[in-house]
Amino acid sequence: MVLNILEKAKRKEELCVEEIEALLSITDPEELQALFDCAYFIKEQYVGKIAYFRGLIECSNLCMKDCYYCGIRKSNKNVDRFQMDEEEIFKEAMWAFEAEYGSCVIQSGERQDKAYIEMIERVVKRIYEATNKEMGITLSLGEQSEEVYRRWRQAGASRYLLRIETTNPELYAKIHPADHSMEERMECLRRLRRTGYQVGTGVMMGLPGQTMRDLANDVVFLKTIDIDMVGMGPYIPHSDTPMGQEIPPYTDAQKKAALTLGLKMIAVTRIVLKDINIAAATALQALEYTGREQGLKCGANVIMPNLTETEYRPKYQLYDNKPCTDENSAMCRGCLSGRIKGIGETIGFKERGDSPHYRKRTKN
Ligand code: SAH
Ligand code: SF4
Repeated sequence: MVLNILEKAKRKEELCVEEIEALLSITDPEELQALFDCAYFIKEQYVGKIAYFRGLIECSNLCMKDCYYCGIRKSNKNVDRFQMDEEEIFKEAMWAFEAEYGSCVIQSGERQDKAYIEMIERVVKRIYEATNKEMGITLSLGEQSEEVYRRWRQAGASRYLLRIETTNPELYAKIHPADHSMEERMECLRRLRRTGYQVGTGVMMGLPGQTMRDLANDVVFLKTIDIDMVGMGPYIPHSDTPMGQEIPPYTDAQKKAALTLGLKMIAVTRIVLKDINIAAATALQALEYTGREQGLKCGANVIMPNLTETEYRPKYQLYDNKPCTDENSAMCRGCLSGRIKGIGETIGFKERGDSPHYRKRTKN
């Protein structure tokens, strides 16, 4: 049954939700390997064996939201809050440019105040101009108005990541306070599309109560909204959060299971969506040291090395055991590059690495 579905996928026939669910439900090790091999086959055909680096700048852990799973939610009093200034963000982006990363990602908790919006606008413009408009600038700064998205786009940002987290409305309501609206998040994805970004979204896998059918529906959703990039990762409990308090820290077996589920989702997403960019999330590495390289072997083609100053890293803990919090950017570059070459891939240094899907979509 599973092998038949994979044959169908290799012939580029469309898979229905039941077939996607069957692939996500694989437990047999041989079938699992066949799934990963099929995803890698599709990856090679559509995006090649090139891994792109996006230098990640986690510029602030201030957040006005209170997502029940996240370590930097506003009600967590055990967080030492920080905000990088414009100069610090600029310097990190320039470090990435000089290290020949084709692009950077600026991420933070959600803030919608005027001072923050203007600061981001200024720094994006500065980075864009100082890199001769060569650097791809991705933002991951949560929900904003259409006007704000437009301003940041005009300043030079070309990509935006906003995860839908889950497409099951009941599950969404369980993991967020009542005033966090799934419809508003969906609307933000439409706003981003209207304002001309390459749009990225994704989900968390392994949420309490989440089923394989939920995840299969998530993949169908990504296809239906014609997304350009996907960033998704396993949910990892954080002990200072309402959800994390109900779940004891993962045992080794639970970590392994969460990693496998994360890899299966990457593989299935590659098989179904084909020519998009897919990031191997840092959360994979929190579960196993080589988690992100395993992500590349299962269909991902983007890695986000951390550029955040070592001093700030322990303060940006979305989940427990976040890896590399005691390293600096140069260490991340060196150690990742070696590991990626080790799996037989090249690194797209100096390339923006736009999603082929986006290029095709905007040509017509
Ligand atoms: N505030 C922005 C960007 C920072 S959060 C936003 O929410 O979009 C980035 C992502 O971290 C979230 O989309 C969520 O999917 C992920 N995240 C938060 N807590 C997590 C946890 N405990 N385990 C795994 N991923 C988590
Ligand atoms: Fe804030 Fe994003 Fe964490 Fe939600 S997931 S609390 S919006 S940083």
